[in-house]
Amino acid sequence: MLYTPKYIYNNDLDKKICKCSECKKYRILYCHSNMMENKKESTKEINSDIISVCSKCGRTYRFNLKYLSDINGDKYEVGKVNFIEEKYSQIKENITKNYNSYDVVSTIKSESFLTKLIKEGREGDFEISEYVFMEK
Ligand SMILES: [Zn+2]
Repeated sequence: MLYTPKYIYNNDLDKKICKCSECKKYRILYCHSNMMENKKESTKEINSDIISVCSKCGRTYRFNLKYLSDINGDKYEVGKVNFIEEKYSQIKENITKNYNSYDVVSTIKSESFLTKLIKEGREGDFEISEYVFMEK
């Protein structure tokens, strides 16, 4: 199961991305993820490069997010954050270009996203997958 959330919530994160006072969540426009899953031990790690927009002020950001899940719960660590100054239409164009540049193993359609599985494999107890998704 690929993890493709529509929103990321400020409350889940270890630090705020947007500094506007009412920011609660971010809508994901684009996400490139590397996922390592150990089903035997029920652990998961996902490293993502994300472009998302603050649902309050509309500012757009690109940032790294590390998601860790194990018996102790879920953890989200925000890495480097960059504010994107380009216009929304320009951002969407760049995202589409980027998305189209990947070769695929398979394509997955869902209600909100276009998703491409780029790589799939196994390393010991870990199932590994690389995928990219963008908002329709
Ligand atoms: Zn904001």
